[in-house]
Amino acid sequence: MRDADPRRRVPRTDVLLADPRLAAAADRLGRDRVKAAIVAAQARARAGEITPDRVRDAAVAALPAATPAAVLNATGVVLHTNLGRAPLSAAAVAAVAAAAGHTDVELDLATGRRARRGRDALAALAAAVPDAGGVHVVNNGAAALVLAATALAAGREIVVSRGELVEIGDGFRLPDLLASTGARLREVGTTNRTSLADYADAVGPDTGFVLKVHPSNFVVTGFTSAVGVDRLATLGVPVVADIGSGLLAPDPLLPAEPDAASTLRAGAHLVTASGDKLLGGPQAGLLLGDADLVDRLRRHPLARALRVDKLTLAALAATLHGPDTPTRAALHADPAALRRRTEHLRDRLAADGCKAEVVPTAAVVGGGGAPGVELDSWALALPERYAGLLRVGDPPVLGRVARGRLLLDLRCVPAAADDALRAAVLAVPAED
Ligand SMILES: *Cc1c(COP(=O)(O)O)cnc(C)c1O
Repeated sequence: MRDADPRRRVPRTDVLLADPRLAAAADRLGRDRVKAAIVAAQARARAGEITPDRVRDAAVAALPAATPAAVLNATGVVLHTNLGRAPLSAAAVAAVAAAAGHTDVELDLATGRRARRGRDALAALAAAVPDAGGVHVVNNGAAALVLAATALAAGREIVVSRGELVEIGDGFRLPDLLASTGARLREVGTTNRTSLADYADAVGPDTGFVLKVHPSNFVVTGFTSAVGVDRLATLGVPVVADIGSGLLAPDPLLPAEPDAASTLRAGAHLVTASGDKLLGGPQAGLLLGDADLVDRLRRHPLARALRVDKLTLAALAATLHGPDTPTRAALHADPAALRRRTEHLRDRLAADGCKAEVVPTAAVVGGGGAPGVELDSWALALPERYAGLLRVGDPPVLGRVARGRLLLDLRCVPAAADDALRAAVLAVPAED
């Protein structure tokens, strides 16, 4: 006889654990956490909050969300710091997965002897920038600068223009970072103008190096002057150039963005850069330059504390060997093709009763470089109320709000994700 009380019909734990969604979650999260979600859902059914047939879905909904969550970047900001800067290429993702187990990261399989850690990534970096006599990789751009300052200027002076003492974001400032190494900053010139004579007056026996910092997140216009690396190289002391973005060679699309090869050719002794900006790779700090300087950095005790892990090395090697990165693809996307893609999405949404417009817009490189550069782009315009709802959707979609509308720029959205984007937009409940 069937029990009349529906609360008695709550599905059993073993039955629920056999549900394909919950079984898959147990592989990912472990059995205990999935069981906890099941127990919570069963309790809600027994309390009469939900009907017994809803217990499965409630348990799935109660599973802890994956963190960090993968999101769609429809902001039109190619390198968005809050969204993890550069996404890895498929080749880099595969390399990370392959390197996750035991690897030959510090072993030569042919001889069975210890080998230089990450030699594949280092060789690829050296091959990409033949002007560099030596290369080294640390955790990020800031770590590259800290290592250079510690190894080459601790207890001595770093000569730097007042116009280049920048804040890199989230309250972190280069001058504080450099001072933390025990080097003294010798500021020269003014905010808007610095001359070669300003540097020459400051250079002396106490100079560790002259530092040139690329203003990668702002522009100064008007009555300005700065001294290029080529002229700094005539001062007779080492010149360290922080180029920021990690471009290894010039990109015609970004003529004002310095690259490692040109900066070394201009006379810099050492170049520092980030791996996850315009290079489009993993978070890393690249050091390229004179072989003996790079060797000093590599052998400094601090280098061990700034060492990158095998996953980063694998991703960096694959990025350097591999096809165009998603960052480069987004940067160089053809506006006409973006427009067609956006119109196609609009038409498919319209077929499902969702009205959107296609409007011209401007994308930007973002905090990773090329301030002031605007890239012609196209966006899907939706009512502003979509912004918050899409942000908490599945997948979360991030756009840009402008003049009361939400703009979704497909430039940084992989074309393969257009269906997911469409589904996320259609999942937003209609206004009532
Ligand atoms: C981004 C940047 C840094 C910091 O690099 P991280 O990889 O974020 O540590 C330093 N200097 C410049 C000029 C930059 O653009």
